[in-house]
Amino acid sequence: MQNVPMLINGEWVSGKGEQTIAVTNPANNETIANIQCASEDDMTAAIDSAVRAFETWRDVPVTERARLMMRYQALLKQHHDELATLLASETGKTFDDAKGDVWRGIEVVEQAMNVPSMMMGETVENVARNIDTASYIQPLGVCVGITPFNFPAMIPLWMFPLAIACGNTFVLKPSEQDPLTPNRLAELFLEAGAPPGVLNVVHGGKAQVDRLLNDDHIKAVSFVGSVPVGQAIYKTATANLKRAQCFAGAKNHTVVMPDANKEHVLNNLVGASVGAAGQRCMAISAAVFVGKAKSWIPELVERIAKVKPGLWNDSEAGFGPLISPAAKQRVLSLIEQGKKQGANCLLDGSDFTVPGYEKGNWVGATVFSEVTPDMAIYQEEIFGPVLSCMTVDSLDEALSLVNANPFGNGTSIFTNSGAAARKYQHEVTVGQVGINVPIPVPLPFFSFTGWKNSFYGDLHAYGKQAVRFYTETKTVTSRWLDDDIPGPLNLTISM
Ligand code: NAD
Repeated sequence: MQNVPMLINGEWVSGKGEQTIAVTNPANNETIANIQCASEDDMTAAIDSAVRAFETWRDVPVTERARLMMRYQALLKQHHDELATLLASETGKTFDDAKGDVWRGIEVVEQAMNVPSMMMGETVENVARNIDTASYIQPLGVCVGITPFNFPAMIPLWMFPLAIACGNTFVLKPSEQDPLTPNRLAELFLEAGAPPGVLNVVHGGKAQVDRLLNDDHIKAVSFVGSVPVGQAIYKTATANLKRAQCFAGAKNHTVVMPDANKEHVLNNLVGASVGAAGQRCMAISAAVFVGKAKSWIPELVERIAKVKPGLWNDSEAGFGPLISPAAKQRVLSLIEQGKKQGANCLLDGSDFTVPGYEKGNWVGATVFSEVTPDMAIYQEEIFGPVLSCMTVDSLDEALSLVNANPFGNGTSIFTNSGAAARKYQHEVTVGQVGINVPIPVPLPFFSFTGWKNSFYGDLHAYGKQAVRFYTETKTVTSRWLDDDIPGPLNLTISM
């Protein structure tokens, strides 16, 4: 059985911790690898290695750091299909979806290649007579990333390439549910020429995360995962005086106006709701039909019913299994609660299975109508292939519903009215808005800007905001004296 090693100071080593965690194939729950978690000594070694590497890495010219990213981008592209196959084997994602996971990560590396222009400071000459001021952007030191299971390529790549391109060193603690893809990303990073200690990868769960959060060497913490863990990590990291950005759960709504293009709405809603088994933080889990648009619900259900889960290499499969038996149980329990609380279950995927893979974590596409805000299927993030259909009479009512929801990751509106779209984008209290675009995940020259309970922190992932998150600004004010300029005594604060 394959053991999942850790990367410490440029070497792949076995964890020496006591706990072993099995990595399983979600299609049949067979173990494909074992993680030996990091011991206290392993954690110390990884942090020390990053601390030492920072002493030299911070002085490597920004152009060389950018070239490392260029070589890494080329390697990732070269290994795109291989990475996607590995990713599919441990997540169960369909091959196309796995390729998308890798590709969206490569796009962030492409952004990291631009780091020299993103690290430009500002200058003003003659802020006072013969005095100039310039600001410089400098790295923080050792940063850490704690990542979730659902995008094992894209989300680690949201973090370490930009942090490292900015001159920091990094310790990554990937999800224990699918650590093979992050390890392969790290291998390719070494192959691209990353010096030892610049990126370290440790494996484990809460104990290893707590160790990172309580170490004074760690300057910044990037987290993506569930709400309770995100809140706890944000509180601990900031109480320990670290910078923190914690991306958490979601409940994303799409608002369907009656003047929208029906075909476009139906085709887009299918993939946005049940694609990737709904295990996307930007999946649409609530569709809000305004006025007569509710008459499209039966046709939507017909189309969603045609999308079947299957194995990652089955080209007919619409999506794969859920990540774990626990995730499946959670989703099934929420479907049950939906039925009990009076929602109308128009399509029920509770009993779905794939022949020959009965032990897998399968849940078929499920659609409810007549969902109301008090129901558990609306209040909780389901993270499964379940769509809740809701109906309202007006755009104002739709806005009130969406804005009352505690999450604010993403939302979309389908309409042919510029006025309705403008009103929605302006008034909605959600950080990422799509107009006739179902899942509006910004490309990495923007930032990933979730709001409310979907994000704790100030500066978001990737783009200019990430460069600010991973750096400090130093402002230098200088005066170069000519010998013949007398320096008068100055007892004030004026320059
Ligand atoms: P999770 O919170 O269970 O785990 C995330 C990471 O935290 C893992 O590395 C895990 O080992 C670690 N962890 C788990 N429990 C911990 C604890 N008690 N203390 C410290 N660390 C702990 O999340 P998950 O199930 O892997 O991922 C799914 C969640 O991630 C969903 O809620 C989804 O919405 C969210 N997500 C959010 C975004 C976003 O951008 N907002 C993106 C992707 C996923």
